[in-house]
Amino acid sequence: MFKKILIANRGEIALRIQRACRELGVRSVIVYSEADRDAKYVKLADEAVCIGPPPSALSYLSMPAIIAAAEVTDAEAIHPGYGFLSENADFAERVEQSGFTFIGPTPASIRIMGDKVSAKQAMIKAGVPCVPGSEGELPEDPKEVVRIARTIGYPVIIKAAGGGGGRGMRVVHTEAALLHAVQTTRAEAGAAFGNPAVYMEKFLQTPRHIEIQILADTHRTAVWLGERDCSMQRRHQKIIEEAPAPGIPRRTIERIGERCTAACKKIGYRGAGTFEFLYENGEFYFIEMNTRVQVEHPVTELVTGIDIVQMQIRIAAGEKLPFAQRHVELRGHAIECRINAEDAYTFMPSPGRITMWHPPGGPGVRVDSHAYTNYFVPPNYDSMIGKIIVHGDTREQALARMRTALSETVIEGISTNIPLHRELMVDAKFIEGGTSIHYLEGWMQQHKR
Ligand code: ADP
Repeated sequence: MFKKILIANRGEIALRIQRACRELGVRSVIVYSEADRDAKYVKLADEAVCIGPPPSALSYLSMPAIIAAAEVTDAEAIHPGYGFLSENADFAERVEQSGFTFIGPTPASIRIMGDKVSAKQAMIKAGVPCVPGSEGELPEDPKEVVRIARTIGYPVIIKAAGGGGGRGMRVVHTEAALLHAVQTTRAEAGAAFGNPAVYMEKFLQTPRHIEIQILADTHRTAVWLGERDCSMQRRHQKIIEEAPAPGIPRRTIERIGERCTAACKKIGYRGAGTFEFLYENGEFYFIEMNTRVQVEHPVTELVTGIDIVQMQIRIAAGEKLPFAQRHVELRGHAIECRINAEDAYTFMPSPGRITMWHPPGGPGVRVDSHAYTNYFVPPNYDSMIGKIIVHGDTREQALARMRTALSETVIEGISTNIPLHRELMVDAKFIEGGTSIHYLEGWMQQHKR
């Protein structure tokens, strides 16, 4: 096992990784920007290194600053968390070239999965079903583009090969709008992701977002840890996640889980990863793979009892997975609500000082957050300030626990999306389970917010 790990991230996930290190008896180094100087997890860290000013480009995205921090603190490995440099193959490569262990897959795996076109091609080859669409990148020839769209059938969605975070996507309903949409998405993708390549998929009308968590060690063992339903989304971004996915037959899920672990072995994947699918009419369609820990990993931890972050570290240290697929058992039901510093209905970011932070508690309630009373939410980063996760024997119990937890939660000084979560937890359709990825958008319109 490593003696010291550098955490190249901030906020709740930095704290989460720090906790995993503590339990494993590993010292941790936190890097932070000037905007995060006063964060409690920075003050409580074994060691902390300031790596630059608030803008991410000059701190959390600065590869030389992070690698220099690892060098001066004698860290052996670097955990990238999620976001920032976590899916940057060049960073993983530079970490390894500098003599450190990157806690994640190989740069080659990250590179293949980071480009959604090459990821889909790899998955088709590995026998994983994908959303029907263009074979690879869309060609320049407009006639060809029109032909491809006709073959797929409208509506279609144009997606950036290098896209992420719900950005770089455009839905097209008619041929008249097609070429302009392709052109605009290309231009945006070039500017936002440095890669103008786009591809086309059938736009599914009522799918659910179901994803499979996997862990793969370097000794040819890969396991899948059940699924998560992340269909509750605003602007293609998840806000509520749960495990297991309500109403999908176990056998159907098992078949896709087995495909995912087979694919991991085929591509030589190592570490934690998530296969994201759209699920419609009993069929799974792969959309992308995330080669890192995900925001919603706790729901899987609560139903499996497996600490995913510790497993990432142990796999990176060369250990064998301490269990096999047959030992993975799902117990009960877990739900997560992402707490964002934003207006609940307009989604306008609401950074600033939290004057009162009173998190919930009680049986089956977990709060992953770095916030506290008097914490200042900096305007420079993502608006997520924490997550409330509950576990119950049944989905009903988990829902009841989440309602109680939300009713206990007091956050003052800034706006949060807690009021929206409170409403959704008593929404008849959500309680029924199995709503599609478009449900929340429709709900927002109906409620004229
Ligand atoms: P990102 O990397 O930006 O998260 P994804 O490819 O994972 O992009 O897609 C994010 C979300 O966009 C999905 O969860 C889904 O809501 C929507 N989406 C993506 N592809 C399709 C599609 N073919 N049909 C319908 N919705 C889609």
